[in-house]
Amino acid sequence: MKKKTKDFFERVLLEIFVDKYNCIICDKELRDKSRYGLCPECLKEMTFVKDRICKKCGRLQLNEADYCLTCQNHLRYFDFARSCVVYDDKAKEIARGLKFGHRKYFAKYVSNFLIDRYEECFKDVNADFIIPVPLMKKRQEERGYNQAEAISKKLAEHYDLEIRTDIIAKIKQNSEQAKLSGKEREENVQGVYQVTKPQDVVDKRILIVDDVMTTGSTLSELAKILIKAKAKNVYALTFASTRYKITGESLEDDKVEL
Ligand SMILES: [Zn+2]
Ligand SMILES: [Zn+2]
Repeated sequence: MKKKTKDFFERVLLEIFVDKYNCIICDKELRDKSRYGLCPECLKEMTFVKDRICKKCGRLQLNEADYCLTCQNHLRYFDFARSCVVYDDKAKEIARGLKFGHRKYFAKYVSNFLIDRYEECFKDVNADFIIPVPLMKKRQEERGYNQAEAISKKLAEHYDLEIRTDIIAKIKQNSEQAKLSGKEREENVQGVYQVTKPQDVVDKRILIVDDVMTTGSTLSELAKILIKAKAKNVYALTFASTRYKITGESLEDDKVEL
């Protein structure tokens, strides 16, 4: 075999085996191929969002109410949102690695989470296309990719859905949502996004995809501008979402650090 060809095959094999056989969180060697790229120990520490969820935003709740306090008290423009896992330590490592650590290859594993959750919650929705939550052009150029778009790829292929990155633009850089209170978050996302191709959303069923949902203000704002542009339905699917916890007397959102 020619040296060049041999090098190529070695590279391909390395690509396949390196992340196929190492946990993406703890790097431990895996005996079997893992759908989520995780060793059994790390997987066990993740909480899948299943029962006791808010019917609107899909976040895990600690009480029996159908809707969380945010959804009870605020207009939500999406039909419903769902996520795969609770945004706790392990999910945070994956999201942060993808977002800040240039670990773009995490995206295909996150996509597998999304594929499985889509199967459970969105099969009957018949989405027309996916819109990954956009970044400012400059931010995307710095990072080299948009993580929301990266995690949408396999999902889109699997269900034969188109990814549309040309429909919504982020036109204003806002403060980081995580550092703000619920009310501030709502205000902080207003006027940040713009529908640039309104003609393409009329009567469409749209699925918005993102990595993490905290209060859902960003998703609701995106849904709002799409509905105003006459989209028929807007749904949202995220990899992780925060959970409600009881702090003292009142229910509060987790303070999250993204
Ligand atoms: Zn592990
Ligand atoms: Zn809710």
